[in-house]
Amino acid sequence: MSKIMAEYLWLDGSMPTAQLRSKTKIIEGTVTRLEDIPEWGFDGSSTQQASGHFSDCLLRPVYYVLDPIRKEGSLLVMCEVLNPDGSVHASNGRARLREVAGEYVNQDPWFGIEQEYTLFKNNWPAGWPAGGFPAPQGDYYCGVGTNMVTARPLVEAHMKACLDAGLKFCGINAEVMLGQWEFQIGPLPPLQMADELWLARWLLLRLGEDSGYSVSFSPKPMPGDWNGAGAHTNFSTKEMRAPGGIKVIEEACRVLGLNHDKHISVYGAGNDQRLTGKHETCAITQFRFGVSDRGASIRIPMATANSGAGYLEDRRPAANADPYQVCAALLKTVCGRW
Ligand code: ADP
Ligand code: MN
Ligand code: MN
Ligand code: MN
Repeated sequence: MSKIMAEYLWLDGSMPTAQLRSKTKIIEGTVTRLEDIPEWGFDGSSTQQASGHFSDCLLRPVYYVLDPIRKEGSLLVMCEVLNPDGSVHASNGRARLREVAGEYVNQDPWFGIEQEYTLFKNNWPAGWPAGGFPAPQGDYYCGVGTNMVTARPLVEAHMKACLDAGLKFCGINAEVMLGQWEFQIGPLPPLQMADELWLARWLLLRLGEDSGYSVSFSPKPMPGDWNGAGAHTNFSTKEMRAPGGIKVIEEACRVLGLNHDKHISVYGAGNDQRLTGKHETCAITQFRFGVSDRGASIRIPMATANSGAGYLEDRRPAANADPYQVCAALLKTVCGRW
């Protein structure tokens, strides 16, 4: 009988930003579908998900891919956290997205997230002189060459790992601040996009260990005249993608403007440090949408405006936003007219 190393991943109860946790279970047998992966448990008192005297939480596998690091049939298993009686745990945002997404499947929503992040080494941004500062930003975005970009081996290894895992990974680029990079996932239906983004984040954190980089999803890792890090969320429905869909996109933007505060409340902690109105953002207290406008809250991409159909880009979510919550908010507002 074969033995499979299955890494179970879940989100903990850390506030205000949940963190990834994972542990390994050896499964004896074969896994050809989700139902072959057993439920499991963990000590919720060590993850801010339970008190010490009643500490067990349940892990229910909900999505799995091949583990590109261990290979040889090993698995990465995304899980939902449940209470011992099988009810949904308070920290389980995926269950809420599952519910909301279920209501709007007929609109065939697609999501794609651009995940920006900052690499640190020895508690200082990667590629920066120790305790000092590199040349001002301006040349680093999509740069090439030593002193222009940094940590490319890790970034490449991460991309290959995501592709080997079968994730719908669609690109990478070096970002405006030295040490900052971006990868993109999508387009996919909401639950799958969010699961794959969490898996891709885990792979990045995990691969960073091998070369001593730590990954920061802080919305504003360095104060001052340095770009923050976001998680631009691209979104479309069947109607938006069909001829004349631009009208539906503009209407969606108007409804999003009416619900700005609700969205900001789930778009990541510390986002006020990033959404200042500078560095390609719109101030957190304002809402604006526009074609090709990288200083707007919502950008309608040029290709969408030109062809009269496509998708919108919500530029507000921070790099540390939880995609389960971001997708649920967009579905409720746009598909459900919140
Ligand atoms: P930007 O020009 O803002 O840097 P990127 O190329 O980095 O854009 O990212 C584009 C994102 O849009 C990707 O995550 C991709 O999956 C997503 N995307 C593309 N088409 C659609 C669509 N029809 N609906 C939703 N998301 C989409
Ligand atoms: Mn991008
Ligand atoms: Mn970017
Ligand atoms: Mn973008």
